[in-house]
Amino acid sequence: MADIMDWRRPLLLALAAFPYLTPAKVANMARCSLEERRRVALPRSRPYVLFLDVTNSCNLRCPYCPTGARRESGRSRNLMDLAIVRRLMDEMGSYLISVNLFNWGEPMLHPQLAAIIDLCHGRGVFTQLSTNLSIGRGERLVELCGSELDYMMVSISGASQQVYSRYHRGGEVDLVFENLRRIVELKRAGKHRKPYVEVKYLCFKHNMHEVDLVRSRARKIGVDLFRHVIAGGAEEDILDQGEAPPRKLHTRYCRQLWSTLVLEPDAGLAPCCCVFQGRRLREIFTKVHPGNQAQRAL
Ligand code: SF4
Repeated sequence: MADIMDWRRPLLLALAAFPYLTPAKVANMARCSLEERRRVALPRSRPYVLFLDVTNSCNLRCPYCPTGARRESGRSRNLMDLAIVRRLMDEMGSYLISVNLFNWGEPMLHPQLAAIIDLCHGRGVFTQLSTNLSIGRGERLVELCGSELDYMMVSISGASQQVYSRYHRGGEVDLVFENLRRIVELKRAGKHRKPYVEVKYLCFKHNMHEVDLVRSRARKIGVDLFRHVIAGGAEEDILDQGEAPPRKLHTRYCRQLWSTLVLEPDAGLAPCCCVFQGRRLREIFTKVHPGNQAQRAL
């Protein structure tokens, strides 16, 4: 089972995404990387990753997440419209490699999530999502396992309810484990390898003593990967620098400006996935070249 800094994660993602590559997509990605290195202001390449935030609502109230803390983003609470996804896939599908179906909310709350995944797959695009999985929607799990979802990240922050709910406020840790078990069972029953399931443990000072317990439960259930990451937050909660794994910064600028298009649930554009507040640009598909989204969005 994989853990922090494990080489298996990038390998698994690469293997899962490989079948979606076409010569045109690879050529666009190569061109995009070149333009990014040269910091071309008006690139001719297209972004090959799409953050499609299917909803900016969440059932939990994690204190260090702006959505969980119920901060205003300047956008209304929304669900991504299926017609927009269809249009996006028509316009971007031939060069997109990956669609990340999340950013500032809980994607499992979208009632048409499986249909969105199907639309992406219809255009040969790899799909992944990140979820708290503390959600009592058994039928949604069945749908998801029957859909072509490739990769699922499940965030967790404790093995006991007391520790888990200190960060994942409003969540139920037993429900998370129950849902994980159900997904693994459904995959086995259907003889599906996908979605690959990764359990991601968010480490704070208050929950380090339960990492091993969650790791062993995840192993017993049969998830594909477990890893723990150092979470951000207030000084009294976050781990000391010495406890954090070394972080290698490859660039001094945001690479997403070239490689990634970030679309909010109201079809507004964000310059990168870290920007929570932003204005709405509905006309992006027709009037804004995705490659220079940051210049136009700011
Ligand atoms: S589960 Fe995710 S989206 Fe929801 S409040 Fe927590 S961090 Fe934010």
